[in-house]
Amino acid sequence: MSETSSSGTTKISTFVLMIVLIVLALSLVALALAVNAFILGEEIVAGYLLVIGFIAMSLSVYVLLQSRRRVMSMKSVNPSMMTTIECRKCGFKSVREFQRGDYVFKELDKCQKCDDKMIVTAIYKEVKEKEKAFPF
Ligand SMILES: [Zn+2]
Repeated sequence: MSETSSSGTTKISTFVLMIVLIVLALSLVALALAVNAFILGEEIVAGYLLVIGFIAMSLSVYVLLQSRRRVMSMKSVNPSMMTTIECRKCGFKSVREFQRGDYVFKELDKCQKCDDKMIVTAIYKEVKEKEKAFPF
């Protein structure tokens, strides 16, 4: 059951999103109060509220970007199903992405080199290596 873990992470990200939206709303309130204080002539109070508003806003944007990046990296780790196709006559081999209905020893279209039928010889999961695996 891999579905339970993925729904669990979605629940966490919606929780984070809620907190981020609340902080964002509070920062907007702080900025509005800063403008109000500035109009009233209390420049020191306005300055404090302005700083608080900007810190809260940048913090919420940072968390939002960070959680989004995590979701994107999780998607790239997902392995993709691959199907190996082989010609029985000349041994021509090709690999393509798994298509619905593929099974081992299934007869497919004609070979590109000779006119004999090609068959599926293997179906496997391909785990993509991380692009930054090399230290160079
Ligand atoms: Zn062939």
